[in-house]
Amino acid sequence: MSGYEAVIGLEVHVQLRTRSKMFCACANRVGAPPNSQTCPVCLGLPGALPALNAEAVRMALALGLAVEARIQPRSTFYRKQYFYPDLPKGYQITQGPVALVEGGDLDIPGDPTVRGATGPVRIRLERAHLEEDAGKSHHEAEGQSLVDLNRAGVPLLEIVGAPDLRSALEASEYLKTLHRLVVALGICDGNLEDGSFRCDANVSLRRSGEAFGTRVEVKNLNSFRFVRQALDHEIQRQAGLLGQGQPVLMETRGWDALAGETRAQRTKEAAMDYRYFPEPDLPPLSIESTEIEAVRASLPELPERQIQRWVEVHGLGLDEARTLAQSPAFAAYFETLARLSGTARGAAAWLLGEVSRTLNERGIGIEAFPLSPESLAGLVALVEARTISFGAAKDQVFPALLVGEGSADAIVAAKGLAQVRDRGAIEALVAQVLAAHPGPVAQIKGGKDSLRGFLVGQVLKAGGGKVDPALVQEVLSDRLANA
Ligand SMILES: [Zn+2]
Repeated sequence: MSGYEAVIGLEVHVQLRTRSKMFCACANRVGAPPNSQTCPVCLGLPGALPALNAEAVRMALALGLAVEARIQPRSTFYRKQYFYPDLPKGYQITQGPVALVEGGDLDIPGDPTVRGATGPVRIRLERAHLEEDAGKSHHEAEGQSLVDLNRAGVPLLEIVGAPDLRSALEASEYLKTLHRLVVALGICDGNLEDGSFRCDANVSLRRSGEAFGTRVEVKNLNSFRFVRQALDHEIQRQAGLLGQGQPVLMETRGWDALAGETRAQRTKEAAMDYRYFPEPDLPPLSIESTEIEAVRASLPELPERQIQRWVEVHGLGLDEARTLAQSPAFAAYFETLARLSGTARGAAAWLLGEVSRTLNERGIGIEAFPLSPESLAGLVALVEARTISFGAAKDQVFPALLVGEGSADAIVAAKGLAQVRDRGAIEALVAQVLAAHPGPVAQIKGGKDSLRGFLVGQVLKAGGGKVDPALVQEVLSDRLANA
């Protein structure tokens, strides 16, 4: 990579979670029997006329407003013509030279290895336009292919980013930021495996300060990890070619996750001529300012603002806050847990620790987590008040809560887990331990401070693991200072 700078721009296809398809009344849902969600419009039968889905327009406006883009009062639909078995009309309806959403930007964490400094960088968006999805081909054994048109006509918002990204890491950060945003706006279910949020990348290399190099398109990157791996690989591949004085070909490549490399799919020498022309069956899309203001008023608190607030008000780390903002449901759970337990840091630690581990083990989301924030808050508050140790909370109370043995208070009482916080009792234990270990005491006085931990351990042991470690430390320090 020496001497080269990577230039990356992403095109993200966001499937909008409208109830019906883009231009017809068919249901927009996955998992229905093949070809059951179809009608003359999305099958492209002669004479069927499209009608624009107003909900999809509102969702595109929400994205546009969230990224502070320019909303175009008037945009048009075009036909993009190509032949493919899963495209029954022989063309895709997309937006023309002017998109509903133009410009805007997204702040992402910059990659310090290429930026020379840590901190956010602003990535510009070129446009976001409405279009319809194609169907799906299923390639069976023996050379047979089957076509399912349930997805044909599902609304897509294509978000085209400017080539402002400078590394694979930045590309994955951009995607994560955009993903959090569309999920928080409620316009996409964010399901990467099902292809609700998918991405193509344009990658080229140039010597710093030079014009753009030849760009290669890497298609169908459907996980944050794949984006990072595929782009890292592609950057290395291009650097290798340029280093040997060979040209980079303008082509489309796919990511082969098993082989860990990108593979040529087709060269762009024979550039596709899509013969774009205005869609005669749809009038231009006109947006009134009242409509824009109504959408603006309905926007939720945006994830990046929420993250900033948690960092500033609650003192959370930036990475912690980003993970908590992974979905609106997770963020809402955190907010409630923090409020009810009285400790945002404690709530964050529990959610990112034991709760996330449980969700991963069970393969479920926070929506299906069996404990309400109220129930978990009882436990978090007990640890915060040092009524029980974190160890006892994690190993004994939390599992008991999960299987429904009652409230945290009740479990602590039933199992006798409350910590001894009676200073007199702890002073007695400390005195006993100091008397039993005169050697270490003398060494600590001689400056060997590392032996304090040993004495604390002895006191905790003497207390049967039920004394408050913080109070033990405090009493021990007092005693050692005054002895
Ligand atoms: Zn239909």
